[in-house]
Amino acid sequence: MIHNWLVPAERLRALPPYVFARLDELKARAREQGLDLIDLGMGNPDGTAPLPVVEAAIAAFEVPRNHGYPPFEGTASFRQAIAAWYERCYNVCLDPDSEALPLLGSKEGLTHLALAYVNPGDLVLVPSPSYPAHFRGPLIAGGELYHLHLSAAQDWLIDFSAIPEAITRRAKILYFNYPNNPTTATAPREFFEEAVAFARHYEILLVHDLCYAELAFDGYQPTSLLEIPGARDLGVEFHTLSKTYSMAGWRVGFVVGNAQVIQGLRTLKTNLDYGIFSVVQAAAETALQLPHFYVQQVQERYRQRRDFLIAGLGELGWQVPRSKATMYLWVPCPPETSSTDFALDLLQQTGVVVTPGNAFGDAGEGYVRISLIADCDRLGEALRRIQQAGIRYSEKVAV
Ligand SMILES: *Cc1c(COP(=O)(O)O)cnc(C)c1O
Repeated sequence: MIHNWLVPAERLRALPPYVFARLDELKARAREQGLDLIDLGMGNPDGTAPLPVVEAAIAAFEVPRNHGYPPFEGTASFRQAIAAWYERCYNVCLDPDSEALPLLGSKEGLTHLALAYVNPGDLVLVPSPSYPAHFRGPLIAGGELYHLHLSAAQDWLIDFSAIPEAITRRAKILYFNYPNNPTTATAPREFFEEAVAFARHYEILLVHDLCYAELAFDGYQPTSLLEIPGARDLGVEFHTLSKTYSMAGWRVGFVVGNAQVIQGLRTLKTNLDYGIFSVVQAAAETALQLPHFYVQQVQERYRQRRDFLIAGLGELGWQVPRSKATMYLWVPCPPETSSTDFALDLLQQTGVVVTPGNAFGDAGEGYVRISLIADCDRLGEALRRIQQAGIRYSEKVAV
């Protein structure tokens, strides 16, 4: 018998299963079988937060008022640190009161932004592949998705001219993210200029996720949407402390940009949460003020891993392009092998966990994402196991 009162709301049924949760089950089963897993599946940095950040948190614990409810809009000093960071990195001047809002991690904000802005039936443009929060938020809000299919042939960049006019006229929001998770693609400044012109012409809110602002290599400096003149009239940008500062478990990020949109998100959040533990905000503020050499060390760590893994995969037949940013490799599956099959094969035969590309949308089919979240010794062990299992990449031979 179906108990109607136990059936979750429609909006939950609109959601495809969360692949990371399913992968977790498979990992648990493999572990029970005694497999030593090398988990390169999630984008969960393996390091710890920098010592000055931990020390700032410990000092903040000593302050009694930090134990109470934090201010809804975030502490003034964290918001000022966010504004100072934008000024230092991008020469963008923000009003810390109206144009910056701390978040319980950017995933929270990206999703809640959809609840604050998307009415049922509103059309939302989302690239495929993309970070799951970029399409799951709009789905929860009852929005309709239009997927912008990205491909290697176009360097995984959105082709604005390929979007049908009937779609652009209806669209309310575009979510996008460069440097990109999962494809590792980067976008030149001209791309951002094009995005702003597109959004202005069709009156679309731009939601840019700049999560990998600092994880860039070989002298490459990612562009902020807000560097583009006029961007804050029609856009917001999200950032997180999770990746660069290895603070994924602390749950802290922020959004900046259009004051009206930020006000909308703040209004929603005032009804949902009480903000971020003040101790965490004090720590995050310290992270944004760390001397540049800290960020350089982190960049160097991921660059070494990137080069090591690309070289090792090269010996197994893969030609993976040298990504200019992020903490991932986006690796094609051997011909005739689906993302899911390849990821499952790897898990079962080698204990190496990667994420099937289709977890990020249909256009991720044919790829897996490998996170650079283990040191080179461990990555070397992963490569040895893949080699011993006889798994290689070979170009499809025409018959
Ligand atoms: C990891 C990641 C996030 C998540 O950030 P949190 O602040 O930890 O919620 C957001 N966007 C992208 C593209 C990511 O890869």
